[in-house]
Amino acid sequence: MRKKIIAGNWKMNGTVTESTILVEAIKKAISSQKDKLSCDIVVCPPFTAMSTVSDLLDGSSIQLGAQNMHAIDKGAFTGEISPPMLTELGCTYVIIGHSERREYAQESDSDIHAKIKAAFHYGMTPILCVGESLEQREKNVTLSWIKNQLTSALNELSSEEVSKMIIAYEPIWAIGTGMTATAEQAEEVCSSIRNMIKTMFNDEVASSVRIQYGGSVKGDNAKALLHKPNIDGALVGGASLDADEFMNIILSI
Ligand code: PEP
Repeated sequence: MRKKIIAGNWKMNGTVTESTILVEAIKKAISSQKDKLSCDIVVCPPFTAMSTVSDLLDGSSIQLGAQNMHAIDKGAFTGEISPPMLTELGCTYVIIGHSERREYAQESDSDIHAKIKAAFHYGMTPILCVGESLEQREKNVTLSWIKNQLTSALNELSSEEVSKMIIAYEPIWAIGTGMTATAEQAEEVCSSIRNMIKTMFNDEVASSVRIQYGGSVKGDNAKALLHKPNIDGALVGGASLDADEFMNIILSI
């Protein structure tokens, strides 16, 4: 039985002061519902707030994630953040290949592959984002596009590594737009991703890997999505900035 996982991607939102208020509110909401919770919960604040959020999460069941990282551990890469800088803060998850980074920071498939390898090397769990644009969906190339993304990202990874990672299916047309994929559309792609993993690795890896859906998930649409057999959780952007809404998503499992 795969444990569900809800991760909040705060993106470029939250000064240290704002992040403190948000994480305290999430902690409070979670501790009041503790007995009802059976999933992993991760928050991914901006880098500048990670140290503070890490201290505030000490002793709580919420885990710390990063929104991105460099693949190399140190060097002349101005403005970048390395894997050991994250692990030192207690970061255990890292989002890799988010569509916003693929688009705005021109992250390539080989960058993404190197970052996944680095995450495993440093003991972090990568949350690999894949997904199609609206144009690709309309041209009916969603699955072949995602298969290519998976093939380059997972190339040369071991079965053990892939079993432990998270894959987030995030249709680009649904991110931050309010246009959620229907539960049926999301399930269709998540189930195809599981089949692709089965072909690339084996049955056991396919049944262990956790596949999230991401794209305008909110309290009122989460239940239908999270009760589909191949959707093991959600990667949540906008709605994770509101503690009550984030909690409603968690409680809909
Ligand atoms: C995301 O950024 O990964 C995301 C899914 O954003 P939103 O929930 O705002 O669509």
